Amino acid sequence: MIIKQRTFPRDIEQLQAIERRLPESHPQMPKVKEHLKTRLSGHKGELALNFPLSYLSEHYHIFHHLRLYDGTHYFQIDCLILTDQWILIVEAKNIGGELFYNQRFNFLSRTWDDGPQTFSDPVLQVRRHRRQLQQWLHLKDFPDIPIYCLVANSHPGTSINTDDPSLDIVIRTEALPEKVEEIDRNHTGERLTQTLTNFISKEILESDLPTDYDYMKELSVNNSDIKKGVFCTGCQRLAMVWEYGRWKCNKCSHRDKLAHHPALRDFCLLNGPKITNKRVRGFLLIKSPTIAQGILKKTCVRYEGTKKSRVYFLRY
Ligand SMILES: [Zn+2]
Repeated sequence: MIIKQRTFPRDIEQLQAIERRLPESHPQMPKVKEHLKTRLSGHKGELALNFPLSYLSEHYHIFHHLRLYDGTHYFQIDCLILTDQWILIVEAKNIGGELFYNQRFNFLSRTWDDGPQTFSDPVLQVRRHRRQLQQWLHLKDFPDIPIYCLVANSHPGTSINTDDPSLDIVIRTEALPEKVEEIDRNHTGERLTQTLTNFISKEILESDLPTDYDYMKELSVNNSDIKKGVFCTGCQRLAMVWEYGRWKCNKCSHRDKLAHHPALRDFCLLNGPKITNKRVRGFLLIKSPTIAQGILKKTCVRYEGTKKSRVYFLRY
């Protein structure tokens, strides 16, 4: 049974908004594209878990993409499976090529079309997450539930090798149901009561925190570098102009009453939900404060303050 569904990651949406609104010639653009490629590939790896996990019975409590706090650090788990006997955490990967898990020096290398590359070791990472989850269970005064961990790679063009013949936690994603059965078969130990299992399940869900990210800061992108205006919903070009109560594109003559919504969503992804009349005019390229106010009143969920100091809150 899926307790927490996976949603499209908001940090990827922020990267997409930056890519959409940064001039192609901007010096940080290659970094933005590289980050976006890596995050989309990682997300693909997480999505690939859906199908094999659909073979598991209702008895398994499945959580996608969790962010928990162990008392010192935050940690993210791609997928967690809870039963009344054990917990399994899965680190999802989508890395193609000839992979070599070097367990002596803990790194992952790969040979691929674009040459050799080295990555941080997912095995080390998932074992660290296991220790952090143990710590989280202690913090919550839960019993010591055995925690298994796996690294599941979903890329179809992958061969996996290692210098450690005992390394048995790296699998191909489609082998996940068999691996879960194997854990079930070999596991011996006490069972938790149904009430306690459900309670832990509820506590995991309630402790899940939103992902913390700010790529604008991380990639040193200034607000002044961001292209302003409303993208045409017909030809995708900038910028539509507000004319007689709707947006009009001077390039393809397309008209749209609601074209400001994707632009305000971009604003929200890049700057957060707070916006003022002045900033909305600057971002949508509108001159009239009255028109800006009309748009804000229809779009925003609430506001604080009066007159010029009024701050509106977007919800996208
Ligand atoms: Zn157009």
